[in-house]
Amino acid sequence: MVQDSIRTLRARGHRATRPRRLVLEVLDEVDRPVSPYDIQGILLGRGKYLNHVTIYRVLDLLCSLNLAHKMLSSGGFIKCSLDAVQGCHRFLVCQHCGAIREFADEELCHEENEFARNLGFHTEHHLSEFCGLCSRCYNSWLRGAESETGDK
Ligand SMILES: [Zn+2]
Ligand SMILES: [Zn+2]
Repeated sequence: MVQDSIRTLRARGHRATRPRRLVLEVLDEVDRPVSPYDIQGILLGRGKYLNHVTIYRVLDLLCSLNLAHKMLSSGGFIKCSLDAVQGCHRFLVCQHCGAIREFADEELCHEENEFARNLGFHTEHHLSEFCGLCSRCYNSWLRGAESETGDK
């Protein structure tokens, strides 16, 4: 909900300005990653205008607060589905249907930090996306593979 995002924004010391509300509204409604230009276009369709520099700034802020995320694979932005909890948010991205599932796993972060520490590296944040098939697409792929072998 946009109201939840606005509450988080305020709780972390930021005002809910008009551009921030508008961008949050768009992110709340779309079901796929969107670019700043997509956001601008959607708003224009509603007779509302924000220049793209403003949209970039708003997205930067939202991402820094975990309210939104920039996808590594597509470069598009999505609303956080984990209530902007602190920590590293990661994604499972289905390459067939585009479904995105978000998760956060502290244990995984610790393991990766340890791995990096052994390489003499101090980690502050992880960005990661898993590319593959969601359970639905994987299952239908399995069924397809079975029926293909059955035909022979
Ligand atoms: Zn998130
Ligand atoms: Zn899928």
